[in-house]
Amino acid sequence: MAEQVQDVPSAEVASRGGSFLFQPVGARAFMTPEKLNDQQRQFYKSGDEFLRTEVLPRAEALEQKDNALLRELLGKAGELGLLGVDIAEEFGGLAQDKVTSMLLAESQAGGYASWATTFGAHTGIGTLPLVFFGTEAQKAKYLPDLASGKKVAAYALSEAGSGSDALAARTVARLSADGSHYLVNGGKMWITNGGFADIYVVFLKIDGSKFTALIVERGTPGFSVGREEHKLGIRGSSTTPLIFEDCQVPAGNVLGEIGKGHKIAFNILNVGRLKLGAFAVGGMKVSLKNGVEYALQRKQFGKSIAEFGLIREKFARAAAQIYAVESMTYRATGAIDEAIGSRTSAAEVMAAIEEYAIEASIMKVAGSEWMFQVIDEMLQVHGGNGFVSDYPIERAYRDNRVNRIFEGTNEINRLLIPGMIFKRAMKGEMPLMEAVMRLDEELSDPRHFPAPLGRLAEERRGAEMAKRQFLFAAKWAATLGPALEERQEVLAALADCAIEIYAMDSILGRTLETGDLASLRDGLCRFFCMESRERAFDRARTALCAIVPAGEVEAQLELLGRLHKYTAVNSAEAREQIVPALLEAPGYPLAY
Ligand SMILES: Cc1cc2nc3c(=O)[nH]c(=O)nc-3n(C[C@H](O)[C@H](O)[C@H](O)COP(=O)(O)OP(=O)(O)OC[C@H]3O[C@@H](n4cnc5c(N)ncnc54)[C@H](O)[C@@H]3O)c2cc1C
Repeated sequence: MAEQVQDVPSAEVASRGGSFLFQPVGARAFMTPEKLNDQQRQFYKSGDEFLRTEVLPRAEALEQKDNALLRELLGKAGELGLLGVDIAEEFGGLAQDKVTSMLLAESQAGGYASWATTFGAHTGIGTLPLVFFGTEAQKAKYLPDLASGKKVAAYALSEAGSGSDALAARTVARLSADGSHYLVNGGKMWITNGGFADIYVVFLKIDGSKFTALIVERGTPGFSVGREEHKLGIRGSSTTPLIFEDCQVPAGNVLGEIGKGHKIAFNILNVGRLKLGAFAVGGMKVSLKNGVEYALQRKQFGKSIAEFGLIREKFARAAAQIYAVESMTYRATGAIDEAIGSRTSAAEVMAAIEEYAIEASIMKVAGSEWMFQVIDEMLQVHGGNGFVSDYPIERAYRDNRVNRIFEGTNEINRLLIPGMIFKRAMKGEMPLMEAVMRLDEELSDPRHFPAPLGRLAEERRGAEMAKRQFLFAAKWAATLGPALEERQEVLAALADCAIEIYAMDSILGRTLETGDLASLRDGLCRFFCMESRERAFDRARTALCAIVPAGEVEAQLELLGRLHKYTAVNSAEAREQIVPALLEAPGYPLAY
C-alpha cells in the first residue's frame, strides 16, 4: 500500500523564521485569514470603509498632487484610529497586534496606490523608527501627533549616490562646539511624503563614519525640501529630495544609538517588506474585481469574453496568486505576533520581526511581482480599454511598477533570502546541513519517496519535493564557499525556489486546516501548485547548471530529477474549479 510522502528531515526547528524549508507541509498550524477575530475584522472593515468613502472619491483630485488634501485625509484617518495601531496606548495609539496592522495596510491598498504609499510611509517606515527606537521623551513628544495624523512622518535613507548601497550615504553631521546641536550637510532623494511631512527620520554619518538616525523637524534652520518628482506612477503621492545645508538639529534628536543607525534602517525595512505583501493583497483583489467586471460586460464573437478559456485562465491564475500572497502574508505576520507574545519591549518586538526577515524579503519579491502579473493580465482582459486612462487598470499598471524598486529592490531582496539562510545555517540557527545530509541518505534509496495519499496529495508531494530540490541545490551552492557571494545567478535561483516553497507550503497548510469551500480552495491550490512546483524545479536546475562542473552536471541533474515528478493536471479542470465562484460575485471570492 502506498504511504504518505515522508517528511523532509527536520531537527527541532519549531516556529522559526525560514523553518518552512525544513518542516513538512502542515507540520504546524499557523495564522490564516480564516482565524481573524472579530476585532481584527472590524479594523479591516473600518479601513475599507474609510478608503471607499473618503479616499477613492478624491483620487482624481489627489492625482493632481494635492498635498493639502493628502494631509487632510491622513488627519481623518487619524481621528478614526487608523494611524495608531502600532503605537502604545500611553502615546495615543491603539496598541494592536501586527496582524491588525497588516489588515489595515491591505484595506488601504484597494484602489488607489498613491494613498496606500502615503499611508504606508507614514504609519510604517516613518513612524515605526520612533515606536521601536525612540526614547520615552521622544515618543511622548512625537507619537501622539503621528497617531492622530496632526503630524506626518517620512523615512529618509536613499541618496542620489546611494540607494541599494544605503550605508554609503554621504550626508554627514558633526556636533557643534557647545554640544547643543548637530550640523547636518548633504541631501536625500526620492523621499515619500517629503513634500509635506513634519518629522523626518534621516540616516547620515556622524563625523563622516558613524551611521546614525536623526529626527529632523520641518522648519529646522538649514533644512529644505526640493521640488516634487514627476513620476511614472503613484503621482498622487509626494516624492521629493531633502536638502541639508548647515542644518542645525538638536543633539537630543539622535534616534537610537550613534553608529547603530543600520539597525534602525534595516529592521524597519523588514516591516515595510512584509507590509508590501499586505498592500499587494489589497491591490491584487481590486484589480481582479475590475478585470472580472469588465469581462462580464464585454462581448466579442457574440459572447461575454468571460466565457473564453484564455480569459478564464487569467482569472484562475490571479485568484491563485492572491490566495498565495494572502496566505504567506498573514502566516508570517501571525508568526511574528506569536513570537512577540506578551513581550512589550521594543528590542523584543524588533527581535521577533527580525526572526522573520527571510519571509519579509520573500513577501517583498512575491508581493510586488505577482501583483504586477495580476495587474498586467487584468489590463490584457480590458484589451484597448486597458491602455487608456478611462479605466482604473491603466493607472494601477503604472502605479505598481515602483513596488519592485523601493523597500530594497527585488534584486537586493533576492540576494538577501539565501544570504540569510546560509548565515543562519553557519551560526547553527538553521538545520540546513543536517537536512542536506539526510537528503543524501534518502537519495540513495528510492523507497524514501512513496506515493502520497489524501487531500491534495500531489500538491503536497510537489511542495515536499521542491524543499528537497532547494536543499540539493543549496548543498552545491555551499561548495562555492565565499565565492558564492559573487554568484548572483545562483543566489537568485535559490531565492526563487524558496519563494515558491513558502507559497506552496502556505496555501497547502492553510487549505488543509480549513473545511469550508473545500472545492474552491483545493482548486486554488491545484492551480497554483501545478505552476509553482515547475518553477521551483526550473530554478533549482538553473542553480545546478551554474555550479556543477561540466563533467558532473548530467549526473547531478539526474539525481535532481529523482526529486521531481511531473504530475499530470488538467489545467482546464483546475481552472473551472475556481472561475465560477469569481464570476458569481465578481472578484476574489474569499472575503474577510
Ligand atoms: C516613488 C519612490 C519612493 C521612494 N520612497 C523612498 C523613501 O520614502 N525613503 C527612502 O529612503 N527611499 C525611497 N525611495 C528610494 C528607493 O528605496 C531606491 O530607489 C531603491 O532603494 C533603489 O536605489 P537606487 O534607485 O539608487 O537604485 P540602485 O541602487 O542604483 O540600483 C539600480 C539597479 O541596480 C541593481 N543593483 C544595485 N545593487 C546591486 C547589487 N549589489 N547586485 C545586483 N544588483 C544591484 C538594483 O537592483 C537596480 O536594479 C523611493 C523611490 C521611489 C522611486
